[in-house]
Amino acid sequence: MNQNFDIVIVGGGILGTSIAYFLSFLNTSKKIGVIEQAHKVAFHTSGRNTGKVHAPYLYDPNKKKLFAKSAFQGYEMWKQYAELKNLPFKEDGVIEVALDQQGVKILEKYEKWGKDNGLDQKDLELLGKSDLKKIEPEIECEAALYVHRDASTDYSILTKSIMSDSTKNNIKFILNKKVTEIINKNGFWHITLNHNQKISAKVLINAAGGESIDIAHQVGVAENFTDVHFRGEYWQAPKEYLKITKTSIYSVPEVPEYPFLDPHWIIRVDGRCEVGPNAVPVFSPYGYNKTENIKEFIPKILEMIGSGARKTIFDKQFQELAINEIKSSMSKTTMIDRVRRFLPKINPEKFKTKGTAGIRSSVIDQNGKFVPDVILLDHKASFHILNYNSPGATGALPFSAYVVNQLNEKGIIQNENADSKCGPWKFSEIIEKIKD
Ligand SMILES: Cc1cc2nc3c(=O)[nH]c(=O)nc-3n(C[C@H](O)[C@H](O)[C@H](O)COP(=O)(O)OP(=O)(O)OC[C@H]3O[C@@H](n4cnc5c(N)ncnc54)[C@H](O)[C@@H]3O)c2cc1C
Repeated sequence: MNQNFDIVIVGGGILGTSIAYFLSFLNTSKKIGVIEQAHKVAFHTSGRNTGKVHAPYLYDPNKKKLFAKSAFQGYEMWKQYAELKNLPFKEDGVIEVALDQQGVKILEKYEKWGKDNGLDQKDLELLGKSDLKKIEPEIECEAALYVHRDASTDYSILTKSIMSDSTKNNIKFILNKKVTEIINKNGFWHITLNHNQKISAKVLINAAGGESIDIAHQVGVAENFTDVHFRGEYWQAPKEYLKITKTSIYSVPEVPEYPFLDPHWIIRVDGRCEVGPNAVPVFSPYGYNKTENIKEFIPKILEMIGSGARKTIFDKQFQELAINEIKSSMSKTTMIDRVRRFLPKINPEKFKTKGTAGIRSSVIDQNGKFVPDVILLDHKASFHILNYNSPGATGALPFSAYVVNQLNEKGIIQNENADSKCGPWKFSEIIEKIKD
C-alpha cells in the first residue's frame, strides 16, 4: 500500500464514508484514504441510532437551515439509493404528540417550520385528540402532528453500501487503525496510526464524530470549544407490544435547548419496537460501559473544568436534567414511565432486554452554551466538521456533497469532474438544491 495520500478522511461513520463517496466520483486521479479505528464502518453512532429518516419539522429554518435542507434532500436521496440497491427503507411516518396546551403550540410551530423547510401540506397533518384516537387508539395526548414523510432504515447497512461503492472507485478504507497523532510539516499532514504506523496526506478531513473536537485541537483549531458526551439507551419491547401502535410516536421535547430528548416509542425498520433514547452524561464518545467511563473520568473532568463546560456543569437546570437522565439509566421503570405518559398500556416489567446504545457528542462554547448547529472550520489544508448531530444520518448524503463543494470553493481541493454523476445523482444538481 502506498502510504502517501492526497486526501485523508478521519472517521468511517456515515459522514466520513459519504464524503469519501462523493470525492471518489469527482477526483478520480487522487489517492484518497479513510481511517477508521473500528473493524467496520458505522460501528459507533452511525450504526447505533434510532434509524429514522427524518422530515425537517423540528428545525428552525433560520437557525438550522443547512441541516433542515440536508434532511429534506437526504430523505429523497436515501429513498432512491435504497430502491436502487434493494436496501431497507420503509415510509412509515412518525407521530409527534403534545401532552398539554403548551405542547400544542409547539406542534403548530413545528408544522410551520416543516412547511418553511420544504414539506408539503400532504406531508404534515395536525390532528386533534379525537382524530388521533381513531388512528392510534392507545395514545393519550392533547394533539398530534402526523408526519407522513418520515421513514425507517438501517444506517449501518446504508453506510456499508456507500463504502462498497467508494471502494470500487478506488477509495482505500483503512480499518482497525486509530489516528493517534497529526503533525503538519512542509505542507504535508504526517499522521500516526496506532502509535506506530506513519502515513501522510496533502489534505486532512476531520469527520471523527465524538473525537472530532480532539482532532481539531490537535491541529490547533476550535480551541474555544469542547464537548460533552451523552449515551442514548434503548429498551426492547416484548413481542406482545409489536402491534400496539401503527406508527413511531415522539413527544414534544420538554427542554429543546438541551440535548435531552424525551424517549420515544420506536418502530424499527425490521418491525422491532423499542423505547428510547434517553441522554445520560458519560465521559467518553465510546462510554458504553463502566470500564471505559472510569478510564476517561479524570481526563474528561479536567478538560471540562478547564473549558466553557465548567459553566455548563455548574448550571442548575443542566444538573437537574442530567440527574433525571441518570435516574432513567439506573431505573428501567423511570425510563419507560416517560413513554407511558402517552402510551399508558405498556408495563415496564415486561421489558427484559436493553437495545444498542449510541453516543451523541454535543459541542459547548466558551460561555458554557450548547452550540445548536453544525460547525465547519478550515485551517491550512484541513477541514473539520464538528457537532454533526441529529438528524445527521438523514442528511449525510447532501451534507457530504456540500462539504466536498466547500472544499473546492475554499481552494483546499480542486474537484476534477465537478459535473460528474455520483451514482444516481448529478453532483451539480445536489449542490443547487442545498445551496442558499
Ligand atoms: C441515540 C441517537 C439516536 C439518533 N437517531 C437518529 C435518527 O434516527 N436519524 C438521524 O438521522 N440521525 C440520528 N442520530 C444522529 C446520527 O446518528 C449522527 O448524526 C451521525 O451518525 C453522525 O455520523 P458521523 O459519521 O459524524 O459520526 P460517527 O458515526 O460517530 O463516526 C465517526 C467515526 O470516526 C471514528 N474515529 C473517531 N476518532 C478516530 C480516530 N482518532 N482514528 C480513527 N477513527 C476515528 C469513530 O470510530 C467513528 O466510527 C442519532 C444519534 C444518537 C446518538
